[in-house]
Amino acid sequence: MPSPPDGRPKPSSAFVLVPAGASFTAGGCGRSVDDPISVPPCVCSAGASFTAGGVRSATTTSFLVVALATVGFLVVALLARCVWDQLRKRWGECGLRGGSCENGSVSNDDAPRSAELFQRAQSVTPGGVNSPVRAFRAVGGTPRFIQRAEGAYLYDADGREYVDLVCSWGPMILGHAHPAVVEAVQAQVSRGVSYGTPTEPEVELAEEIIARTSVDRIRLVTSGTEATMSAIRLARGYTERSKIVKFAGHYHGHVDSLLASAGSGVATFGLPGTPGVTEPTAADTIVLPYNDTGAVKATFAEHGDSIACVIAEAAAGNMGAVPPADGFNAFLQEIAHAHGALLVLDEVMTGFRVSRSGWYGLDGVAADLTTFGKVMGGGFPAAAFGGRADVMEKLAPAGPVYQAGTLAGNPVATTAGLTTLRLTDAGVYAHLDNTAQTIGRLVGEALDAAGVPHIAQFAGNLFTVFFVDPSEAVTDFAGARRTDVDQFGAFFHAMLERGVYLPPSAFEAWFVSAAHDDQAVERIADALPAAAAAAAGVSGRRQ
Ligand SMILES: *Cc1c(COP(=O)(O)O)cnc(C)c1O
Repeated sequence: MPSPPDGRPKPSSAFVLVPAGASFTAGGCGRSVDDPISVPPCVCSAGASFTAGGVRSATTTSFLVVALATVGFLVVALLARCVWDQLRKRWGECGLRGGSCENGSVSNDDAPRSAELFQRAQSVTPGGVNSPVRAFRAVGGTPRFIQRAEGAYLYDADGREYVDLVCSWGPMILGHAHPAVVEAVQAQVSRGVSYGTPTEPEVELAEEIIARTSVDRIRLVTSGTEATMSAIRLARGYTERSKIVKFAGHYHGHVDSLLASAGSGVATFGLPGTPGVTEPTAADTIVLPYNDTGAVKATFAEHGDSIACVIAEAAAGNMGAVPPADGFNAFLQEIAHAHGALLVLDEVMTGFRVSRSGWYGLDGVAADLTTFGKVMGGGFPAAAFGGRADVMEKLAPAGPVYQAGTLAGNPVATTAGLTTLRLTDAGVYAHLDNTAQTIGRLVGEALDAAGVPHIAQFAGNLFTVFFVDPSEAVTDFAGARRTDVDQFGAFFHAMLERGVYLPPSAFEAWFVSAAHDDQAVERIADALPAAAAAAAGVSGRRQ
């Protein structure tokens, strides 16, 4: 069969030509036959030689037998080699030595209903997910489709139960389906879900946030991305300058100017940046190593009068938990002000999670602008940016910097957020801190027992287990990237098999909730020895 110019055979004809390809596809990486990637080009060429071997000529029977046997042997050898290459490639891609692979049939056996849904999802949305890290690409296997959640537990489409250490990537601080939040939301829904007018819950949520944090004024939006995007625009509008400084490994949502060397999914997939962000936009973004005061000083010395703001996660959580060095946020504030620039602290992850006042409650650095999200929406799309009154007053309609949102301050979302914040009292924060410390200690003990080098690192009650040599402190993105992603993948899958749902990436923080009780912690403890042993069984690949 002639291959198309890009060297990839048409999958359907390759399938017809080489029946052996069917068993490869089904038994190998389990992709559907109509997925072109699943049919390796070498199967096609092997198939072509097989067909050629079928051409008869007028020779003796014995010659025919020998010729056919030779061709048959060659075909089998070629196919075996091809299958081996593909498997090795897949395992490499998936970050696993002996387990499942991307969309792999191995773990599909565990989750047939999720696998079926994922198949459907992939034919309607790119990669089958609405946010990249959900796709399990960094760890391989089938992403679990969740049908129901309660307290500390998730329940997937195949009826499996998991202790949830993702908590919707942070928001579910009270646990899932907290009865008081559900009740408040239901009451609001029955009064109508959106009016496009001002409402009382927005004012109450704004008052609650202002009472807890350093901000004087606040504007509600619908996502963390929108919050940071708007804060950057406001900082530029206020200072009438164009450049911004950010730190490698920090993630501030998928804002064009903030995607350079970003954390979260961008870090998970090892992307240096992303196509679609124009050069002039990227050129206005200066990316520096985190916790590096020298680099910040040098940058301000060179570009000080064109820098609008420095933006930083108040404590980094999107390359895994990496706290700021003592005094680092205060230093940023000082140097920004010395040059007429603003400090924007991104508390979308840390806000109302590491303390009732977020990271501000821990280090007291009052940024000029602060962004919030995740917990403040109680699981609904709600986020915010706020700060100094004189800066915020530049925002439309009070001032000239435009910003708007049809569903901003949505009454259902603000009701969920407000109810969540009001229920998250000192007792809850003490419980989160204790539970995080306990789980971190248990993971550390299990990995120690299995002889796996690691650091269990905390930023408040956010924590991440880095599979690194403990003598190499993780203080920045270069340090975080030393984590052994293969070991994490093996650890992740062993935990998942035993009913513990970790973030499906080595570069994410783990989250606990008020609902993570002794029973949930015990479930985690029970899963750990096998997971530590699985991690001990692999080593090598770092990003
Ligand atoms: C999650 C996150 C964002 C983006 O929020 P979205 O609601 O996903 O757009 C921004 N900054 C930080 C620190 C985050 O953790």
